[in-house]
Formats: sequence, C-alpha cells, structure tokens
Amino acid sequence: MSKIILTGDRPTGRLHVGHYVGSLRGRVELQNSGEYDKIFIMIADAQALTDNADNPEKVRQNIIEVALDYLSCGLDPARSTLFIQSQIQELAELSFYYMNLVTVSRLQRNPTVKAEIQMRNFETSIPVGFFTYPISQAADITAFQATTVPVGDDQLPMIEQCREIVRKFNAVYGDTLTEPEALVPKNEVCSRLPGTDGKAKMSKSLGNCIYLSDSADEVRTKIMSMFTDPNHLKITDPGSLEGNTVFIYLDAFCKEEHFGRYLPEYANLDELKGHYQRGGLGDVKVKKFLNNVMQEVLEPIRVRRSELEKQIPDIYEILKKGSETARETAAQTMAAVKAAMKINYFEDAALIAEQSSRYSEKQ
Ligand code: ATP
Ligand code: MG
Repeated sequence: MSKIILTGDRPTGRLHVGHYVGSLRGRVELQNSGEYDKIFIMIADAQALTDNADNPEKVRQNIIEVALDYLSCGLDPARSTLFIQSQIQELAELSFYYMNLVTVSRLQRNPTVKAEIQMRNFETSIPVGFFTYPISQAADITAFQATTVPVGDDQLPMIEQCREIVRKFNAVYGDTLTEPEALVPKNEVCSRLPGTDGKAKMSKSLGNCIYLSDSADEVRTKIMSMFTDPNHLKITDPGSLEGNTVFIYLDAFCKEEHFGRYLPEYANLDELKGHYQRGGLGDVKVKKFLNNVMQEVLEPIRVRRSELEKQIPDIYEILKKGSETARETAAQTMAAVKAAMKINYFEDAALIAEQSSRYSEKQ
C-alpha cells in the first residue's frame, strides 16, 4: 500500500512555534526521509471560514503568510503538493455524503470541538459549518487516501472521528476509503506547546504566540516576559518546573550541543533543571539561554522567508499548480465514492442495460 501524507493549517494567522514543533518540523523530516509516496499539504481556507465567515479578508490575506511559512521551514513543492482547500470542490461533495454517516450526538461529544466552541463563545449559536468541520476534515484526509496525518494532539479526536467515518463508509458501501493514522510528535511537550502566557495551547486565536516570522527583537521580548514559576521570587528560592513555560520550551527546542555553545557551565538540561529546583538559578539566565537556542532555530527560517518574500507571484503559482495536482487525486477518489454509493448513473452501462431489459420484459 502507498504511504500518503495529508495535513494542513488554517490560514487564520501566520504560523507560530507551536505549529513548528507540533507538526511542521516533523513534516519536513518526513518529506526529506523519502519514505512517503505522496505528500499533500493543505491550506485549510474553507475550514477557516467556518468560524470566520464574516471576515473573508483575514483568510485571504493569510494564505500567502502560511505559504511563506511552509516554504521557509523547508517544505519543497517538488516533493510535497501544497494546495488550497477551497479550490478542490470534491472536498465539499465528499463532506455532504459523509454527513449521512455521523450523528449530531457524536459530533457533540468531540472534545476538541467542545473546547473550541467554548473558546469562541459559540455556545448559544454555533454555525453549522463549524460544528460539522470534523466531517469536512474527514473529507480532506480521505480524498487523498492518506495513510498518515502528522498533527498536534488537539487533532487526535478529529482523526478518530475520520477513522469512524471510513469504517462506516466501507461497511455500508464496500471497501473504498483508507483509514488514516495520526502521527503526533514523539516528544510529548511538542504535541501541545503552551502559549508564552502559560496557557495550555499556543494558538493564533489566543494571541500568546511566538511567530516564525517574528523579528529577533520580538522573539527576545516575548521570551523575556514569558510565564515561569510565580513563586520563584528570589534567585535563591527553589523553583518549580511544573507548568513553567521556559523549561517546557527548552524541552521542545534545546539539544545537548546548545549547552556547549551558550551555557557551558551545565552539561545538559537535567543539570540546569536540577539547579533551578534546588534554588540559586535566576529566571533571566534561563530565559537568555532559551533565547539563544530559539534564535538559532528561527534565524535560518527568517533568512529564507525574507528571500521568498521577493517572489510572491511564484508562490501563488506553486499553490495554483499544487491545487491542480491535488484536484486530480481528489477526483479519482470522488469517482470511486460515487461508484460505491451507486450514484454514478451515467458511467454505469450495466444500470442502463438492466433498466431497459426490465421495461422491455414488461412490454
Ligand atoms: P486556530 O486558533 O485558528 O485554530 P491554531 O493555532 O490552532 O489556529 P491550526 O491551523 O488549527 O492552528 O492547527 C494546525 C496544526 O498545528 C494542527 O496539526 C495542530 O495540531 C497544530 N498545532 C496548533 N497549535 C499547536 C500547539 N500549540 N502545539 C502543537 N501543535 C499545534
Ligand atoms: Mg486550531
């Protein structure tokens, strides 16, 4: 069986370091591993419109931002198909049929949708499109017969729901769709990076992000004002690592080699953590170290981005070509789905022959 990746991001803002450690960094590694037959990376504008219907300009403006972030992180259009969701009409068509296979109560139980409804104050008036976006996401994944979906852990309930839809579809209409697997980062802190304010998830909608495109100064300012241990008032106080954002980010970004370069008095992160917990290590020193580590990761991305920003028409062309390629694959799946569901009337010569013989017998 071919190994196929589908994943994507909503163009609701520029991409941040949570996207980077949660999904983007891994995607680039998977792309470069050469182990996958096809890789589809989707800018999910139609999904972004489900909770931004009144702000299409925001979605339109952020398409290019997400594309610039993709390319500057190393996604390569020669090896990965980058495309825009709304340009693939088959995705809407598939969603329409999958809706028949999902109950309202099943959607209501999806914990990510529940949390997102609360975050957006949608409790009293949820747009139907938003409520059903897990179904549309199942269409995105299955249209490409994806086997692997690299995501952060907030997406696990979506992949589970997609797997249920696939099993139901195949049971009712015959084996047609591929059941995908989620691929979350091995390093647990990366699968849901907290915001700089210490809130559970860095998220464009919460305004607690370090963006991949932030300048070196912006990154430094955000790191220096990051949430740490509120009880660690004096340097001599013992510090706690629990919920301490600076240490969580070090877990996500720091490698042993960084100590040699920026903080040679410690051999590794365990030693630094030990000292912090015993007391005698100030937040500022740890934050300065984190800043050095993150600048090292982000600088090459920034440099590539500033080059790519000079080639905007070429990037739209990449997305246009990618959307055409993606559409060919989605159309093949759509044809198979229609045949399985017996709604391929005009392609089905046997149907016409059967109906005409039924009526000729009558005469
Ligand atoms: P929005 O607030 O508009 O939903 P978002 O920041 O949650 O934006 P998405 O476009 O919904 O971003 O998510 C894209 C991908 O990035 C998903 O795979 C998601 O799991 C992952 N992701 C998003 N935020 C984080 C995070 N803080 N840590 C790890 N992965 C994340
Ligand atoms: Mg999200």
